[in-house]
Amino acid sequence: MKLTILGSGTCIPNPKRGSSGYVLETPSSKILLDCGSGTTWKLEKMGINYLEIDHIFFSHLHPDHTGDLVPFLFATKYSHNREREKPLFIWGGKGFNKFFNTLKKAYGSWIAPEHLNVDEIKGGSDTFDDFKILAVKTPHIESSLAYKIESEGKSIVYSGDTDYSESLIELSTNVDLLIIECALANESYKMRGHLTPNEVIKTINAAKPKKVVVTHLYTECDGENVVETIRSNVDAQVVEAQDLLELII
Ligand SMILES: [Zn+2]
Ligand SMILES: [Zn+2]
Repeated sequence: MKLTILGSGTCIPNPKRGSSGYVLETPSSKILLDCGSGTTWKLEKMGINYLEIDHIFFSHLHPDHTGDLVPFLFATKYSHNREREKPLFIWGGKGFNKFFNTLKKAYGSWIAPEHLNVDEIKGGSDTFDDFKILAVKTPHIESSLAYKIESEGKSIVYSGDTDYSESLIELSTNVDLLIIECALANESYKMRGHLTPNEVIKTINAAKPKKVVVTHLYTECDGENVVETIRSNVDAQVVEAQDLLELII
């Protein structure tokens, strides 16, 4: 699988980091995890045709994870000289159908391209073309989910936004790659719904993933050596998320 990080930041404008977006390519599927502001043009920048995305899985409904959905669908509907030729599946957690219907009330047919399917994840795992996905509830907001994706004998977990969670540890145990948020620069910033470096270290040491991408970094994190602190306290290989970084898993 190939992972491309499109946005490693948060809702706060940051010249280095855009809002959340990750694309995962398996031999026959292109999977978008979250679609924060700027995701659509960054796909094109990375040479990934946005009209070939098969699935979008949303971790939750906060605007820094969903802000580019309307531009993505508008560009899909009015794609000029290129056509979308295959189905697009869009998935989210509890409340996603209501959220999407509200967007449709505002934008109508502008965001209703052909071949569009929208639904809520009901729990458990689903198998698609050449990958399997499992969604697990996380402590952030009501709609929040972490995802585990398996393909070609490899496994990736994306935490979305989350507080410390035993279910995330269980989901991430022995995976090949854990993409984990570390929104808070140190313990003094602790607030409910996000992780501090110590909580990320505790999660990694319990779950033992082979490799870790630390992401969803607020601006303060870059000044506080958050990734270095995590790296020096765990056994796994730790990578700092960067916008437009590509990783092969
Ligand atoms: Zn967020
Ligand atoms: Zn959030």
